[in-house]
Amino acid sequence: MGAINGREFLQRLDSTPRELWYGDEKITGSVSSHPAFKGVARSLAALYDMQLKPELRDLMTYRSPTSGDPVGLSFMQPHTKEDLAKRTAMMKAWADYSGGIMGRTPDYLNSSVMAMAAAKEFFGRDGRDYAANIERYYEHVREKDLLLTHTLINPQSNRGAGPSKQADPFIAARVVEKNSGGVTIRGARMLATLPMADEIMVFPSTVIRSGQDDMPYSIAFALPVSAKGLKFICRESFASASTYDHPLASRFDEQDAVVVFDDVIVPWERVFILEDPERANRVNEGTDAIAFMAHQATVREVSKVEFVAGAVTLVAETIGADQFPQVQEKISEILLTAETMRAFIRASEANARVNRWGLMTPDYVPINSARNLWPKVAPALSTVLKQIGASGLMAIPPEEILSTKVRPDVDRYYQAKTTDAEERIRLFKLAWDLAGSSFAGRQDLYERFFFGDPVRMASAYYSWYDKEPYKERVKELLHRKE
Ligand SMILES: Cc1cc2nc3c(=O)[nH]c(=O)nc-3n(C[C@H](O)[C@H](O)[C@H](O)COP(=O)(O)OP(=O)(O)OC[C@H]3O[C@@H](n4cnc5c(N)ncnc54)[C@H](O)[C@@H]3O)c2cc1C
Repeated sequence: MGAINGREFLQRLDSTPRELWYGDEKITGSVSSHPAFKGVARSLAALYDMQLKPELRDLMTYRSPTSGDPVGLSFMQPHTKEDLAKRTAMMKAWADYSGGIMGRTPDYLNSSVMAMAAAKEFFGRDGRDYAANIERYYEHVREKDLLLTHTLINPQSNRGAGPSKQADPFIAARVVEKNSGGVTIRGARMLATLPMADEIMVFPSTVIRSGQDDMPYSIAFALPVSAKGLKFICRESFASASTYDHPLASRFDEQDAVVVFDDVIVPWERVFILEDPERANRVNEGTDAIAFMAHQATVREVSKVEFVAGAVTLVAETIGADQFPQVQEKISEILLTAETMRAFIRASEANARVNRWGLMTPDYVPINSARNLWPKVAPALSTVLKQIGASGLMAIPPEEILSTKVRPDVDRYYQAKTTDAEERIRLFKLAWDLAGSSFAGRQDLYERFFFGDPVRMASAYYSWYDKEPYKERVKELLHRKE
């Protein structure tokens, strides 16, 4: 089958049964027509369409090593630096489509499953052939071009205690039974962005304690979203029908859902880690999936900073604020972030090495630094837009005002230095959707947390970073004799 187009994606979305709850509604009809999903479904379809456009085909796809069909390039296992550069170009093309707003374009998890399959030996063959399972799963996802979501963390009940020590040991998803048919899972996970995916990967985060009681929570598996007993409970949608009023929320609200496993049976061939805290805790680093996911994320982040830089510069120019030094200084902050994140990608590719699983892997030092820096610099994107847009971000009447009898007032009082009223309102609505709307609030939270808790990530970074050469230099000077 190979790479799909947008129509095939939408058909699959609407024909795959799933238990998707939106408020008091269990969505039974077409997901792609539902107001909460319509906009993002179209955007995802547009991404899939890009794969098969004749002029983009070579950028977006490569030949499947098994079928020879064109398949998505984010599935490509890189063996050379040229392969890595191809992955970057493909990922940037997808990221640019949404100005880096869509965090979960399919390449994010495609990169993960691609790296894990190369590292199949990590998963082992203890009793069951988990190595073969992950390899087969990767090929299945690649050949069918399946859209993946994933869920890593347990419900936020009591973070002061491990999963087995919660008020109810079945709050966090865990194994309840194993038999010849597979493994039965009960409990919940939060959170899964993109519940309109075809499949869900349930993987451990790296904070599972290794006590005996926590063993049933140390699991990794994947399932079709149609699996019996699997439920997705969605948050309130931020999507809007108007692309004028909410240019981003109307197109890119990826939705987030809590995932409930109501005695879901995972067939053995879909199990990758079972009751193995040691492997569960190391899966991302041990397979280098983290390096490839961080590589994709950083490419997307560059796209986003570039988009915000464009928006904030237009806002400043539109109202003639671009001449003020403090405005220039704030925009420069965004430009510096763009250059910094881009430099991390360049460095990770220039110093890439073949890992022990045979993949040309982005150098982890710069790409892990990008991963840790991003949650600290991303909040400035919306802050600077607010500082420069100021009250203009509230002078954004709904689209309908343009066809009322106050239109002459709107044309007169909303005009700006470089644009007429309609265009100025359009731009400032975009700025609000980037910086202050409920959609923007979710974006801000996403950038802070999507790769994990930045506090614990920074602590892990501190422990991992080789500080010895720096200390040695100081010690040498302290004891220098001349
Ligand atoms: C918009 C959005 C989309 C997301 N999408 C996905 C997704 O698709 N799939 C997925 O798996 N995850 C997703 N996540 C979840 C993301 O992985 C988590 O937000 C992240 O791992 C942090 O976990 P938490 O939110 O449970 O925070 P918590 O762990 O509950 O932390 C809450 C606060 O307590 C502190 N804290 C908690 N425990 C400790 C500790 N042991 N030591 C020190 N401080 C601690 C934290 O620093 C933080 O300040 C998403 C998150 C957001 C916001």
